[in-house]
Amino acid sequence: MRTAIVSAMHEELASVLALLPDEHKVTVAGRDFYDGHLHGREVVAVLSRIGKVAAATTATLLIERFRVDRIVFTGVAGGLAPAVQRGDVVVADAFLQHDLDASPIFPRWEVPLYGTDRFATDAALTGELAAAVARALPGTRVHRGLVVSGDRFVATSAESRLLQQALPDALAVEMEGAAIAQVCRDFGVPFAAVRTVSDRAGDAAAGDFVSFIREVASRHSAAIVQALLAR
Ligand code: SAH
Repeated sequence: MRTAIVSAMHEELASVLALLPDEHKVTVAGRDFYDGHLHGREVVAVLSRIGKVAAATTATLLIERFRVDRIVFTGVAGGLAPAVQRGDVVVADAFLQHDLDASPIFPRWEVPLYGTDRFATDAALTGELAAAVARALPGTRVHRGLVVSGDRFVATSAESRLLQQALPDALAVEMEGAAIAQVCRDFGVPFAAVRTVSDRAGDAAAGDFVSFIREVASRHSAAIVQALLAR
């Protein structure tokens, strides 16, 4: 069983790499993949790179070139639903591309030829990940549900409000998850994702985001990955 650990930010990847005693680097398509072990289990750690296309390429390489059996994403996201506050954790049950719109030919958000706008994460792996979050970060508020992805850093209250009105069940917004979920569905590879809420996707998002990465997100990633693979 080979597990891919995909991180969104350098700080998060660094904290995961610090847990691998033996990794070696393989560079493909400008991406550095770190092949190694964690608690004796085979892992490949890599940066997703930012945005849906970049993340889809990374996921495809993990599956086709590195032959991973499952993909786990750890990253940060902007909180959308009112209850989803900075420092909370969101475990994704499903992803949707909030900036995809082929209407009127297809319903808004529907991915053409898939007949759906939502891609579910793997239920079993998501359950394991949620349990790992609970062990790694006791006392942290954890939400589970829909996460939306798009090629925009949402950093104004006006945009965040529009997203919440359009997609009231969306817990958080980020830039990669829906792309990886779609690739994993194509290849039949289990996918699970956890995002720590770094900002509220409002007017303060940019400043909140930077300080949060340094202070919290990298610690969360390492602790969650450690708890997931220690079993
Ligand atoms: N300045 C950063 C850019 C990060 S873009 C850098 O130096 O790399 C923001 C990243 O965090 C994306 O990978 C996205 O998935 C996530 N994210 C966090 N808050 C977000 C928000 N409010 N809107 C969209 N993506 C967000």
